[in-house]
Amino acid sequence: MKKCIVCDEEHDQGIIVVNQFICHTCEQKMVQTEVENSSYSFFINKLKTINLSAVK
Ligand SMILES: [Zn+2]
Repeated sequence: MKKCIVCDEEHDQGIIVVNQFICHTCEQKMVQTEVENSSYSFFINKLKTINLSAVK
């Protein structure tokens, strides 16, 4: 079980992006909401946070 950085819940299925875990559910949401501006920018901000923490 890993803690998803998007929904803060623990899941056993998901992907690793820049050493951070994103659960399968959130991954699917990211794919499905790519064209919806509000949701998309939410995930982009999350990914920016990941990138910033990965630089350290
Ligand atoms: Zn999640």
